[in-house]
Amino acid sequence: MTRKNYDVIVIGGGLLGCFAARNLARYDLRVALLEKREDLCMGMSRANTAIVYSGCDTKPGTLKTAMCVDASQGFEGLCAELGVRYSKCGSIMICFGERGAGVLRKKLEQGTRNGVRGARMLTREEVLELEPNVSADVYAGLYVPDTGTVMPWELCLAAAENAARNGVDINLNAKADNISRSSGGYIVEVRAEHAAAGASASGQDTAAGVSASGQDTAADASASGQDIPVKAAGVTVYNTKAVVNCAGLNADVVLEKVFEPVVRIVPDAGDYYVLDTKAQGFIRHVIFHEPEEKGKGLTLVPTVEGNILVGPTERKLVMDAAENIPADDAGFETTLEGLESLRSLVAEVVPGLPMEHVIRSFGAVRPNPFEVDYISQKSAHGDEAAQLTNVERSIPEGGTPEGGISDNALQNCAASKEKRAVTISNRSVNDFSIIESEDEAFISFIGVKTPGLTCANELGRYAADRIAEKLDALPNVKYDSHRLAQVRVNEMPFNEREALVRRDPAYGRIVCRCRGVTEGEVLDAIRAAPGAVTLDGVKHRAGTGLGRCQGGFCTQHVLELLVSELY
Ligand SMILES: Cc1cc2nc3c(=O)[nH]c(=O)nc-3n(C[C@H](O)[C@H](O)[C@H](O)COP(=O)(O)OP(=O)(O)OC[C@H]3O[C@@H](n4cnc5c(N)ncnc54)[C@H](O)[C@@H]3O)c2cc1C
Repeated sequence: MTRKNYDVIVIGGGLLGCFAARNLARYDLRVALLEKREDLCMGMSRANTAIVYSGCDTKPGTLKTAMCVDASQGFEGLCAELGVRYSKCGSIMICFGERGAGVLRKKLEQGTRNGVRGARMLTREEVLELEPNVSADVYAGLYVPDTGTVMPWELCLAAAENAARNGVDINLNAKADNISRSSGGYIVEVRAEHAAAGASASGQDTAAGVSASGQDTAADASASGQDIPVKAAGVTVYNTKAVVNCAGLNADVVLEKVFEPVVRIVPDAGDYYVLDTKAQGFIRHVIFHEPEEKGKGLTLVPTVEGNILVGPTERKLVMDAAENIPADDAGFETTLEGLESLRSLVAEVVPGLPMEHVIRSFGAVRPNPFEVDYISQKSAHGDEAAQLTNVERSIPEGGTPEGGISDNALQNCAASKEKRAVTISNRSVNDFSIIESEDEAFISFIGVKTPGLTCANELGRYAADRIAEKLDALPNVKYDSHRLAQVRVNEMPFNEREALVRRDPAYGRIVCRCRGVTEGEVLDAIRAAPGAVTLDGVKHRAGTGLGRCQGGFCTQHVLELLVSELY
């Protein structure tokens, strides 16, 4: 009778969780990743602006800045290693008057201090030469050559594949419902309805012996020596020496299972438009617009897929009153008001942008982190209602850099506050908030927003190195940081395509007409480890449904392939 435990459990399969897992695989550790959804990259990591930031926007001396500058300067190398497409298109921040120009000059000075390379101010004429479709009223620009763009889900899934290939077990439909301390570290429980349906990404069965009490039971080791978590009645129990909490919008809730709350997430939301590839070339750089009036400017991104991304707005988010968090998909919808405000900004900034080529809109949720004060300080602050009003009124300028906070959000935090006996301070957290305690191997990333995509590998490495140090882990001598790029038939030269189709005719059968994605690529997506089990999963891996018809043509065929491969 054998029972094998994990050394590290990573909670959450977004960019941070997948990169934490990938970096943990550099060590001789048994690692499992738990993701509550049916696939990876289904949270914030799939809905964002897709920009690789250079480090001009963040304050000197912060961890965020140090990581962002390093990350952007090494991003090409990271993407080459993971076989991920990356476009180092550069960015131009534009303004329409002297106030905005002052902001640009400050950013240039800040960026230079931060170590950003090659940034410089542009005159109106220079901006128009580089970006002729920007409004002729443009006043000045700030050019930053190191800014880039990447497909967030391509990056995230590549990190996960690389982690799985290096031995990390990836468990989907596995929500960490409860976490408690144990003599050996922590016990993470996944209720049956969340437990993976019998298979981890490595293809191993995860269900094993039965224990009503959650104590160690027989769990036949698989022939491969694969770790098998113990399955209690209705609960899968993972014993682990360490936890890396990357639960995104829920990271504070996960942290509070074990620790006193220190940072609480108060989310808000934003809207985006996506333009078809027919608009490709209208802009060549990432365009940031610094508005003359206070408020949110516009961002335009020429994506690696050839689309143009427009957004995001900034709007309050109505949260699930019972949960104190947005329900799974809440916030990811769009609002008419938000989309209309994007259109009016477009008219001002890039008046000729062909909005008739809009093929999609989507919403995104930001995890604004706020410090939490303990109830012991409550008397010093007065009654709760007063504190909450105070929170709203006294958010310092720039305190919620990406958005306001709804009354509903505050009320929900108040309800949770009572339950947890904590109070929210008026201090938003402007640096990455990494919560860890010296004497425990439990690291939490709470409220990591922009530039979290840019810094995902750096944050993952940070977590892995800290955990490895605490567990005295040795390097994994078999670790291979490389992942083969997936086949993309429509990006191949004709002679290579021809040879491929001769080898496997499935690469000659078009499934998605808009993007020229073939049956072979859809099958690759489903057979990957971890592979796609949904239409979105295939879309994120193979690119079906991303074109002008948004899946109108390919959905049926993709479904048939999913069914034939999975059932
Ligand atoms: C609007 C917006 C725009 C942005 N634009 C940029 C940008 O252009 N460039 C940039 O660098 N950064 C950007 N960011 C930041 C970046 O997107 C995030 O920092 C990053 O995606 C965070 O990843 P994550 O893994 O922490 O969260 P997520 O991607 O949300 O992943 C968390 C995962 O945890 C899972 N989970 C939750 N609870 C549990 C549980 N109990 N058990 C198991 N699993 C659980 C969730 O299902 C989810 O999959 C943007 C963010 C936002 C919101």
